[in-house]
Amino acid sequence: MKEVRTTCPYCGVGCGVIARTADDGTLSLVGDPLHPANFGKLCSKGLALAETMVPTGRLTQPWIEGRAASWGEATALVAERFSAAIKEYGPDSVALYVSGQLLTEDYYVANKFMKGFVGSANIDTNSRLCMASAVAAHKRAFGADIVPCNYTDLEEADLVVLVGSNAAWCHPVLFQRLLAAREKRGTKIVVIDPRRTSTAEGADLFLPLKPQSDVALFNGLLRHLYLGGHADAHFLKSHTTGLSEALLAARAWTVDAVAAATGLPAEDVEAFYGLFAAHERSVTAFSMGVNQSTSGTDKANAIINAHLVTGRIGKAGMGPFSLTGQPNAMGGREVGGLANMLAAHMDIENAAHRDAVQAFWHSPKMATKPGLKAVDLFKAVQEGRIKALWIMGTNPAVSMPDSGFIAEALRRCEFVAVSDVMSETETTQYADVLLPAQGWGEKSGTVTNSERCISRQRSFAEPVGEAQPDWRIICDVAKAMGFSGFEFQNAAQVFDEHVALTQLGNDGARKLDLSSWVGAVYDMLWPAQWGGERPFADGQFQTPDGRARFVPTVFSTTFEDGIVLNTGRMRDQWHTMTRTGLVPRLFSHRAEPYVEINPIDAAAISLQDSGIVELQGQGKVIRARALITPTVGAGSVFQPMHWSGAFARHALVNTGTVQQVDPVSGQPALKSATVTLRRFEAAWYGFGVSLDAPNVDTEYCAVRPIAAGHAFECADRNIPDNWLTFVLPNTKDTMEVSSVQGTEKASFRCVVMENDKLIFAFVAAPQPVAASREWLLGLLGQQISPLAVLAGRPAQGLPDDGPIVCTCMQVGRNRISRFMADNQGTTISQLCEATGAGTGCGSCKPEIKVILLEAQRQRIAAE
Ligand code: SF4
Repeated sequence: MKEVRTTCPYCGVGCGVIARTADDGTLSLVGDPLHPANFGKLCSKGLALAETMVPTGRLTQPWIEGRAASWGEATALVAERFSAAIKEYGPDSVALYVSGQLLTEDYYVANKFMKGFVGSANIDTNSRLCMASAVAAHKRAFGADIVPCNYTDLEEADLVVLVGSNAAWCHPVLFQRLLAAREKRGTKIVVIDPRRTSTAEGADLFLPLKPQSDVALFNGLLRHLYLGGHADAHFLKSHTTGLSEALLAARAWTVDAVAAATGLPAEDVEAFYGLFAAHERSVTAFSMGVNQSTSGTDKANAIINAHLVTGRIGKAGMGPFSLTGQPNAMGGREVGGLANMLAAHMDIENAAHRDAVQAFWHSPKMATKPGLKAVDLFKAVQEGRIKALWIMGTNPAVSMPDSGFIAEALRRCEFVAVSDVMSETETTQYADVLLPAQGWGEKSGTVTNSERCISRQRSFAEPVGEAQPDWRIICDVAKAMGFSGFEFQNAAQVFDEHVALTQLGNDGARKLDLSSWVGAVYDMLWPAQWGGERPFADGQFQTPDGRARFVPTVFSTTFEDGIVLNTGRMRDQWHTMTRTGLVPRLFSHRAEPYVEINPIDAAAISLQDSGIVELQGQGKVIRARALITPTVGAGSVFQPMHWSGAFARHALVNTGTVQQVDPVSGQPALKSATVTLRRFEAAWYGFGVSLDAPNVDTEYCAVRPIAAGHAFECADRNIPDNWLTFVLPNTKDTMEVSSVQGTEKASFRCVVMENDKLIFAFVAAPQPVAASREWLLGLLGQQISPLAVLAGRPAQGLPDDGPIVCTCMQVGRNRISRFMADNQGTTISQLCEATGAGTGCGSCKPEIKVILLEAQRQRIAAE
């Protein structure tokens, strides 16, 4: 057995993972009990990592214009096209669009290449979509992009306020740490979100404010804290500046004004203000709901202002805490991976910093101004100003707002190179050159999580095909362009140079100083935080006068008429599903694209639950399953961002989002588009399982992997003339086909057996199909009577677990309900112990609690 300590490649919690490879090559993964982020815990995504280590869909060798090529050819072509564009049109005619999935060493080399050798800062990253507003707010308030808190602060706080953060789903292990601490110290939890998420279940106070009204709420808090005598006079006098201006901006935000702007009851606003005032140990954690907004930077600064006025920063259990979405967004920020940064927290607009970095790099040509941020970068691509674009480790044709525009920009671009681990994504189809990158488990480097903790990602598997680490691919292209300074032999050498750069001219002026990593053995690096536990413990900030700055913040809403489209992430999937989409059980909680819609809005278009709803925006149509629920307010809908064309037709939510950005950070306002809703007039709905990839061509269609093959959902406005030829265009003599046509033309069932095993089953109905899906999924590839399958549900007395709630332990809603029916008055811990639900990563516990409470409510109503 070989054990390698590494780090999860998904969210910004940055959990430690131990990869165990048995002598027979079998891989198993467990949480690292010694890693300070997770102490052995993993969420459903982390627990499924081993199942993503498969060759399915991998890009195994370079390709040029659709033909296999050698590394030499591919590298030379990228170098030639970049050099030619620079020669003819200047350095700003080329660009890199990189990713928070890159390791710090990859990011470092990419940044050095563009800013120090190409001479342009046109390098931006998908982290722009994630936390650019938090970065901008940190820089405005603290003078540098420094997260003041660490994870233990969440455990040592008496009050945790979660703003625009569904941490229960998006930072699951961290949320479980918070809940465990709450059990011990009775931490109060306030959740501020337009949507009643899993995070909000069980909160002491839930504030479902109107979308984008956070600035009003926090300006009101600042006013309340100051006028109520809760300001820390000593801290304000010694360590801050600008309070008067911030108070002036907040002066009109009385409780009544806040209530009117946010749509919250005045007593709830007062309750929140009272809780915040009463608890000195308070942490305000915020995430995409704050950042992805036209006022994202102001929202973050409004939060920071509330902590500055009370002096609640730099001490145990308190502070404003930006929870990073991506695994290495922070590492990217350290090396200047955003277009408006330099490196090592130096400023691209500061000539002295530029000169120092240029001397350090021995660079021939430094970028002299900030480059294009993501949205503007792709506009420049679309307008032909960018002639050569290199995309690394990201899928902008799915993840960027207004994805139709992005696809068109990529199609028009004269030259597109894509480095990726996967061969077929929405983005790779536009590539002139495809460069195979090493994936997680194959590559080596470092990442930095949300609490500034640098950890190693270590390789423990052979690279697939000819895949190379990203840093090496960039170095090879740089060398082919004639640049020197890219002769690194391994990731450790890159890291050492990064460490040295953080020390450059740094006599304490920059808190990002990795001196303590000097001389460390790269292979032995242990997770450690830069900036210490709390970088502002000394009350010194990175501004010229060492004081934190209050920033006056302005409330504004920019919605057009229509239903607000809120987008976000699901519990068990990661981004565009290129990896998590390989794991069948990660689809068991949510199997297809869905839209959460309030009952009022559903009634307005006569939409039934599980029907198909159409969202119309940007001249495009998005179709998804309707989940009618009061968890979203009337006038807004929520759709996860994960589904691409690889898994569903017409379900890509970013076709309906807009290119609006925060004016300070340039972060897209991915939660601010408006759409109109329409009921999709399906004549029939279908569900099927198939050993082979199904061949269904319908107006709504979603396909997912299952253990033995594929499952699919579909719907259409037209009923096929011949159901059999429609669902089975190709049959073989060895197949035994049984079918039943119902009295209605839209009612049809069919079962296909081959060698006595089920290889295909399909159910169509005029209403959303009620067949037991979990039961049918388990039958594929099994010996079973076709008649039993045609029945569409388990025979009397056989268990049917129903839709899966707990992905880790595969426990369905029906099993939970049966246990509750048999054990009235059960507690959540008894239920979890008896059924196994919630005993894996624990992320499903809020949902189990809702089921439990709903059952109790129904029982009381019945009595
Ligand atoms: Fe990975 Fe889950 Fe930990 Fe995030 S919380 S780092 S996704 S295991």
